[in-house]
Amino acid sequence: MTNITETCRDLNELTAAAQLACRLLFQECYKAGIVDIFITETFRSQARQDYLWEQGRTRPGSKVTWVTTSNHTSRRAWDIAVAPPKDLYNISTLSKVGAIAKKLGITWGGYWPASNYDAPHFEIQTTWKAPAGFKLEGTVIVPSNSKLKVQLIVNDKGQAVVGVNDGKLYRVQSGTFTTQAQANAAKQALGKYKIANADYVRIAQDGNKWRFITGTYATQAVANNAITEMKRLGILSYAESIQA
Ligand SMILES: [Zn+2]
Repeated sequence: MTNITETCRDLNELTAAAQLACRLLFQECYKAGIVDIFITETFRSQARQDYLWEQGRTRPGSKVTWVTTSNHTSRRAWDIAVAPPKDLYNISTLSKVGAIAKKLGITWGGYWPASNYDAPHFEIQTTWKAPAGFKLEGTVIVPSNSKLKVQLIVNDKGQAVVGVNDGKLYRVQSGTFTTQAQANAAKQALGKYKIANADYVRIAQDGNKWRFITGTYATQAVANNAITEMKRLGILSYAESIQA
């Protein structure tokens, strides 16, 4: 974090326990059919927390925070929002996520009293552990923008790619690969087909596996070409064709 006006959406900036809690929350949301939520902020520096506190007090604007210390600065909190066409803070959706959080021992700001009510906010205590009966069942895609859907990839045989109609754009979304070489090959295969937004193309080490997330394609044909190419290269174990 270099700029106090910028929000950080990187889950990896949270504590290991908070990352697990957040992934479990998104996994259980996925299983409950809630896939249109995404992260809007994770870690917040104290300098940024102070900056937000000043808003509506010593700086113009509406108040956006009620605390000078936050579990965002302790790396144990994250905020979410709801993707279009719903409202950004659609309370029906946030309430369902809040109820799931409660089952997981995660604190939801929507249960707080009016004085510090914070419906997009979730956090864990330092002592949090996953409750009995809950564990990660696969790779959980935790979106950090409104175009990506929550996904749980359980058919994880080393390679997995699913095509998703993403509003007006077409997305090829992958699961995990057993080696970095496979992930790189997938990235190259997609690169041949003009990825519309290269910012989303990244390879991340996810435990001892390699995760690959692509950007969006302008047309369904181009996205399907990318899937075909990956199949030809033998770096897919399954793929769904994209629905128009
Ligand atoms: Zn928050």
